[in-house]
This record gives sequence, C-alpha cells and structure tokens, in this order.
Amino acid sequence: MRQPLVAGNWKMNGSTDSVNALIEGLRAGIDTVTTAEMAVCPPYVYIPQVAARLAGTPISYGAQDVSDQEAGAYTGEVAPGMLADIGCKYAIVGHSERRSIYGESDEFTASKFAAARKAGLIPILCVGELLEEREQGITEQVVERQLDAVIDLEGIAAFASAVIAYEPVWAIGTGKTATPDQAQDVHAFIRGKLAGLDKAVADGVRILYGGSMNPGNAAELLAMQDIDGGLIGGASLKPDDFLAIGQAANA
Ligand code: PEP
Repeated sequence: MRQPLVAGNWKMNGSTDSVNALIEGLRAGIDTVTTAEMAVCPPYVYIPQVAARLAGTPISYGAQDVSDQEAGAYTGEVAPGMLADIGCKYAIVGHSERRSIYGESDEFTASKFAAARKAGLIPILCVGELLEEREQGITEQVVERQLDAVIDLEGIAAFASAVIAYEPVWAIGTGKTATPDQAQDVHAFIRGKLAGLDKAVADGVRILYGGSMNPGNAAELLAMQDIDGGLIGGASLKPDDFLAIGQAANA
C-alpha cells in the first residue's frame, strides 16, 4: 500500500509571524489526519524555524528547490547536503515555475534530482504539460520526455526513493483543476511507463497530483486509483484548508 502524501509548497510566501501562525494551526489539527503523511516546503530561510516548531509532530518538511552541486563556489545556491543537515526529508525539483521562469531544463532538473538523492533527500519530481501542449494532444510525450531525462541519468531504480508530482501547468495557481479522470489518465500513463521498466518500482512510487487542489475537490481526486496524494500551493498557506485536504485522504 502506498501511504498518501500531502505536501505543501509555500512558494515565496511568509514571514516569521505568519510561519509561526501557520505551524500552530497545523499542530492544532494534525490529529484529524489519520492516513496521509503531511509535509511542508517553506522558503529556505524559514526551514529551521519550521523544523523547531514541528518538533514532536509527524509532519515532515523539505525545500522547494535544491542545487545540483554539492559545495563550493556557487553563489546563491543551497546544497542538498545542507538541507539534509537541517533535517529536510524532501526537495521539490523541476517545479514548473523553475522550468518556465528560470529556464531550468529537463537535464538540469535531472541533475538536481540526482544530487538530492545522493545527499539522502527524497526528490519530489514535478512533471506536467503546458496548456498549448495539452491542446496539441502531446501531454504524454511531454511527461515522458521529462521522466526520461531522469531515468537516463539515474536509472529506474532511483524512483524507489523518489516521489513524482503530476502538475498540469495550466492548473497551477489558476483555480482550474484537472478533472479526476484527466489526472488519473496521466497518472496511469506515468505508472505504466515506469512499470514497463520495473513493475515493483512502479507499484511503490507515490504519484501526487498538483494544480489548484483544495478542500472542495481533493476527495474526488484522491479517490482515483493512481493518485497518491497532492502537491498543494495556495491552499497549503491556510492551515484549515491544508488539513482538510489531508483529511480527504483518511482511510
Ligand atoms: C504548486 O505550486 O505546486 C501548486 C500546485 O499550486 P496551486 O495548488 O496553487 O495550484
């Protein structure tokens, strides 16, 4: 059985006070989430504060990005070993905002994925198509290309210690959600592709859906066979909404 994972991507939001309030809200309600693992990915600077405030809870934490380099003269970068050192479990790699705004390629994303794993972090690899790619009917080719870059570098076995997030770019932060069937189709495609290379790895890997997931649509998305949780942007900034998404995964 794959334990659902509901991970919050706070993006570039927060302050010392708002982070304290958010974590307090999560602590107050985490007992209502009985099945899913909950995780938060704050901006780098708030990770130690989040770590301290989450102590004693089952909530995991990670980073929204990571360097592909281990150490040295890389101004502005944060090494995966540093994130592991401060207790991070996860690092998101290849978020569509990194790919589209900062021009990060499939290959660069794959090198971040590899660096994260090498340091003992679990990468959350984001894949997903643009609206025009969906309209051209090439969603599967795009997702396959993004996966292949990682498989070519790391091999299929790497997905035994990784998470995949399918995030249709047209659904991120837009309020437009993929229908459960649209999402399930792509999740099944991803799992089927991995199964063609290693069935056990494909059966075990958690594939999250991301794109305007909220308390109103989470249950029907999470009920789909190949949707193993969510990567949540906007709704993860509201503790009650984030917890409600976690509760939607209760067995
Ligand atoms: C995201 O940024 O990964 C995301 C899914 O955002 P939102 O939930 O706001 O669409």
